[in-house]
Amino acid sequence: MINKTAAEMADALSKGETTSLALTQAHLDRISAVDSKVKAFLHVDKEGALAQAASVDAKRAKGEKLSPLAGIPLALKDVLAQKGVPTTAGSKILQGWRPPYDSTVAAKLKAAGVVIVGKTNMDEFAMGSSTENSGFGPTFNPWDLTRTPGGSSGGSAAAVSSFQTPLAIGSDTGGSIRQPAALTGIVGVRPTYGAVSRYGLIAYSSSLDQAGPFGRTVLDTALLHEVIAGHDAHDATSINADVPAVVAAAKSGDVKGLKIGVIKQLQGEGYQKGVQTRFDESLKLLASLGAEIVEVDCPNFEYALAAYYLIAPSEASSNLARFDAMRYGLRVGDKDGASAEAVMNITRDAGFGREVKRRIILGTYALSSGYYDAYYGSAQKIRTLIIEDYAKAFAKADVLVSPTAPTTAYKIGEKVDDPMAMYLGDVATIPVNLAGICGMSLPAGLAEEDGLPVGFQIMAPAMQDQRLYQVGAALEAALNSKWGAPILSNAPSLGGAA
Ligand code: GLN
Repeated sequence: MINKTAAEMADALSKGETTSLALTQAHLDRISAVDSKVKAFLHVDKEGALAQAASVDAKRAKGEKLSPLAGIPLALKDVLAQKGVPTTAGSKILQGWRPPYDSTVAAKLKAAGVVIVGKTNMDEFAMGSSTENSGFGPTFNPWDLTRTPGGSSGGSAAAVSSFQTPLAIGSDTGGSIRQPAALTGIVGVRPTYGAVSRYGLIAYSSSLDQAGPFGRTVLDTALLHEVIAGHDAHDATSINADVPAVVAAAKSGDVKGLKIGVIKQLQGEGYQKGVQTRFDESLKLLASLGAEIVEVDCPNFEYALAAYYLIAPSEASSNLARFDAMRYGLRVGDKDGASAEAVMNITRDAGFGREVKRRIILGTYALSSGYYDAYYGSAQKIRTLIIEDYAKAFAKADVLVSPTAPTTAYKIGEKVDDPMAMYLGDVATIPVNLAGICGMSLPAGLAEEDGLPVGFQIMAPAMQDQRLYQVGAALEAALNSKWGAPILSNAPSLGGAA
């Protein structure tokens, strides 16, 4: 059962071939069998999951109308608040915090009857590209346990790719859904900024953060997208418009007559050979399905990485000021006579990891008077130029494409001490976030030189998320017939009962 897609599981549930309780137990068993190796989860909520499953089964038995994903297990990135369940954002500073409320994403999942089985590991406060910056140790890539699963949503991606859950939620500030999806051979979507509520999503960089779905197929990902998207009065940046028809698009999957723009700046030099080869092959497949391939020029993308690594730390330095030992989580040094300032200092020193401290310092510097115009101000101007590059490119093409990441999964420890090298891995994903548009990564095959998954990225204009699914579904079907099976069927079994 656990090898099926979420859509197939939902079908089996609706036909009475299985129950959510049995399905949830099967996934909990899989977690017990393999997660000591993968370490995707920070917390497994066995009781809560089984209770939700039983409640969905009871509703189904009564003939109540249920949402399409009712009874299906899911893994939730630990950046999203879930009432009463430990939520840390991968940071020791939040250890022991149990939110008194649900994030809107968690509330929507619960309302749809989705079974949240646990909270997944992540880079601390979503700062990183490998999940090695977690305050609780790294997650391991199910394809090769000596490698990272990407990040920052590495726990969620690894959970789905190792069949511990069919679905997961991640968050994508600069690529943290698409990049780990690419590195673990699954599908991940960063929805349009404002399409999914940020209420209860622990803030990293508020103008860039967006939660989104992971699945093993384009259709599964669309089904989850539809559950979590929609306007929310609790989030002032939430878009008040109809959710794009992503499920219908995933089911149609036609690219005939569509214009697909290849971004000149996001390929070639700096991209691993096997990544480029699989990307080029996918383009040929899309052309053979009747799409028209054009090249587009986005000259300002050259500055995207630099602009992002000023804007994101700047916003983070402000957002993370709230972790002051007074309101939630960790408190260290609270002894008689200690001043509040001293307790804050000692707690922040003990609770934040190296990368988080680096970014707070960077952001504080970039925002300080005298440097504001030179750094933060310039970065914001670049952001506008990138939005303009996209506007010109979308005038020539319905969707834009690139490899998701320049390389396949790298070794644990390889880049963690060299932040610049790690930041470079985000070169192809970051422009989407700066422009507030949407993007998908789907598996394009395995790189010849290392046998590891390669991601193909599709980008669409704001609130045109359905185009991602339309193109993604067409490409997925063509790739499945080219390789004779889904790419994930090549992943190692990890020894657990599969
Ligand atoms: N790797 C990027 C960063 O460290 C993106 C992270 C993310 O999308 N959350 O900021």
